Amino acid sequence: MSLNSKDKKKLKSFLKLLKEKRRTFIGYPVNTTFDYSEISDFLDFPINNVGDPFDSSYYGINSREFETEVLDWFAKLYEAPLNNYWGYVTSGGTEGNMYGLYLAREIYPKGVVYYSQDTHYSVSKNIRMLRMDHVMIKSKPNGEMDYDDFSNMLSTWRSAPPIIFANLGTTMKEGVDDINKIKKILKDLAIPEYYIHADAAMAGMTLPFVDGAKFYNFKDGIQSISISGHKVIGSPVPCGVVLTLKSNVGRIARAIEYVGTLDTTVSGSRNGFTPILLWHAIKDKGFNGFKKIVRECLKTADRAVKKFNENGIEAWKNDNAITIVFPKPSEYVTSKWQLAMQDDHCHILVMPQVNDELIDELVDDILNK
Ligand SMILES: *Cc1c(COP(=O)(O)O)cnc(C)c1O
Repeated sequence: MSLNSKDKKKLKSFLKLLKEKRRTFIGYPVNTTFDYSEISDFLDFPINNVGDPFDSSYYGINSREFETEVLDWFAKLYEAPLNNYWGYVTSGGTEGNMYGLYLAREIYPKGVVYYSQDTHYSVSKNIRMLRMDHVMIKSKPNGEMDYDDFSNMLSTWRSAPPIIFANLGTTMKEGVDDINKIKKILKDLAIPEYYIHADAAMAGMTLPFVDGAKFYNFKDGIQSISISGHKVIGSPVPCGVVLTLKSNVGRIARAIEYVGTLDTTVSGSRNGFTPILLWHAIKDKGFNGFKKIVRECLKTADRAVKKFNENGIEAWKNDNAITIVFPKPSEYVTSKWQLAMQDDHCHILVMPQVNDELIDELVDDILNK
């Protein structure tokens, strides 16, 4: 079994293109510096974690043992109650966010979703798919929710239980919604019943590792959280983790005879390789390894903002953020550096592959191209 020479050539030139594109990949929150060669043998098996990771399954070629270890690690990181948490390895941040909203809707079928303008574009689609009532809240210039607007909207819709979709690091500006302020507003309006989901797609793997940074977690009253695995951790295949309280999941669980497991997840068949991959990353780096990586990224990001500003480019970033926002440069620059744009600004993400030399090259391009 082998490809003909034309097809082989096609693959070879695609590989070359990928290597070129990876060099100037700075516009998305994706770490490109991973090495999973130690676990590549597992790609030879049809590993499938169909169904509930904590339940057994007739499908024997599964990596549940690795998946549950990964979930335990994240549960500790986000201070979930260790005897009352549940979760699974998802296909990415979007699925985890959808799952959080789904649970919230099952708990509060008449609930209204509150989410800020700066929320990831996939969320409004998910809300439509789930047919949930929703209110969009204004954002502040730094990407954080506008709490006055939130408070006003909340008083208007007071009779419906609020489902707060909170951003712990927005996509464009890495703004963090203040869960304590949100809870205070709920309390001031005497709203006893609510649900808070946290979208920590990217910052869920940075903020918990920064000394002195506040990362809102289960102890602060969030009921579910979603993160992406392919962003800060890095992965050749998109993946993510969703965690919630076990008591939330009970009402959606259905036992399915065909696969001998509980159907608690969004998809049926689930990737059995990504749990091994995340497990490898966690074992390889550990808490202190990630802490070091994040510290380096923050240092480079601070230096980058300085460099931009010294050269007259109006760049800024939030505290403890690795996202740098600046005015939209020329098309040459946005295309070479694969920059995501919104209105008149764009951003870069200082991921582990980004160093001072790369920033210098980018600044040079912005000034001259
Ligand atoms: C990336 C991102 C998402 C989507 O995650 P995927 O893993 O791409 O599905 C959702 N929310 C935020 C804030 C993000 O940065």
